[in-house]
Amino acid sequence: MKQYDVIVVGGGTAGFAAAVTAAKAGKNTLLIEENAYLGGTATGAQISQFMGFANDETEESLRGLVKELLSRLKAAKGSQGMSHIYLSGDKNLDVSVIPYQPDILKDIMDDMVSEAGVDILLHTRVIGAQMTDGKISSLTIHNVEGVQSITGRIVIDATFHGSVAVACGCQWKMGDEDGVLQPGTLIYQIAGVDAERYAKVTQSEKTALAKKGLEQGCLYVNNLLARPLPNGVFQSNMSRVKINPLDTLAWSKAEMEARRQVRKISRFFIENVPGFEHAYLVTTGDFTGLRDSRRIMGQYVLSNEDVLEGHEFPDAVAKSSYPIDIHDANGVGSHVVKPKTGVFYVPYRAMIVKEASNLVLAGRCISAEHEAHACIRVMITCMRLGEAAAMAAAESLNRGCEVNTLDGSILKEQLLG
Ligand SMILES: Cc1cc2nc3c(=O)[nH]c(=O)nc-3n(C[C@H](O)[C@H](O)[C@H](O)COP(=O)(O)OP(=O)(O)OC[C@H]3O[C@@H](n4cnc5c(N)ncnc54)[C@H](O)[C@@H]3O)c2cc1C
Repeated sequence: MKQYDVIVVGGGTAGFAAAVTAAKAGKNTLLIEENAYLGGTATGAQISQFMGFANDETEESLRGLVKELLSRLKAAKGSQGMSHIYLSGDKNLDVSVIPYQPDILKDIMDDMVSEAGVDILLHTRVIGAQMTDGKISSLTIHNVEGVQSITGRIVIDATFHGSVAVACGCQWKMGDEDGVLQPGTLIYQIAGVDAERYAKVTQSEKTALAKKGLEQGCLYVNNLLARPLPNGVFQSNMSRVKINPLDTLAWSKAEMEARRQVRKISRFFIENVPGFEHAYLVTTGDFTGLRDSRRIMGQYVLSNEDVLEGHEFPDAVAKSSYPIDIHDANGVGSHVVKPKTGVFYVPYRAMIVKEASNLVLAGRCISAEHEAHACIRVMITCMRLGEAAAMAAAESLNRGCEVNTLDGSILKEQLLG
């Protein structure tokens, strides 16, 4: 295969954004994705609402790739634009969201990568990286054609698990101080809901119904989490399963347990929740969404204090107001803490490593402590980190410097003004 300027591994929100941005910057770009479609967790796990905006952002003030994506989603009737929700039903936890239809998002991502001129290998997994003099000299890929080698001048790891970085020998951490991971959730869609009737259910009634469901062993969280998608079908994020993605045997059992939970939850709703009397389950995600996997330890580790105190950085590439949001691994609730200043920043140094001079991290696997990670893991931030990774790749190729020594303040000017 030809040599690429930029190879992006993983076509989730971060990898999609990185590939489009690198190609638009004039770089020969290849995107490698193991699924048959782009979007990763955003589409395959049917998450269906973008979060991670800064408090002062409005639909009108959006810039760059997120602006383009939203305008295309709206034109295709895949979104009605920005709205607000209360996390855990708590009125103090107001966050901006953009709900979307996952299947329409898949189409738009296809269009945007194609129009940008990205080469795409779907159904292809990166299974190794070869290093020469502290640089990735080639990646090993596997698909139905067999095992092949492929070369790129810069590699962006947007795999969610930091798998390329691990293959390069980078250090990583996972979970909290005891290695405990947040639970995963299999999202499902349920149609035939009387939305007007459900809208009249008060928060205290929801809490009481959730208590009843928990007591009966039919529910797994202490609130009713169901909301309409733009097409009127409801989406629900209520299963909770323990998943360690580094134990595939246990993970496989957990996928089946998640499907069992969804059957129980949807039956409970149909039998107990006003508005769901004539509802029926239409689909579940292709896989259970994971909230945690490896966090690669990069040149800077974004700390909990950085987030809570809103520390600014000369090389900041993303800003957000999304709170620390950790779902209880053994209980039924979430631990949510807002940044004190209302906003936090992610420095470019959390996206680069010392072990591989031509590697950039993007999305959920960047270098952060457990709690800080629980703020950056949402999709608007992942997309912005993807954009930043690609801009860094383009700048380093243009300037002839290593991407892991690039002065991130150049990116700050472009991304945060
Ligand atoms: C249940 C749940 C609810 C959530 N709710 C929200 C929400 O409401 N709003 C929000 O904004 N965020 C939410 N999030 C968080 C968010 O969805 C994810 O953190 C985010 O989508 C991660 O994006 P990513 O691009 O880093 O990774 P992913 O979307 O997971 O993409 C990684 C991609 O890499 C591919 N890949 C992995 N390894 C390889 C390999 N070796 N070779 C080739 N391809 C590979 C995968 O197939 C995948 O497509 C939620 C997460 C979960 C689990």
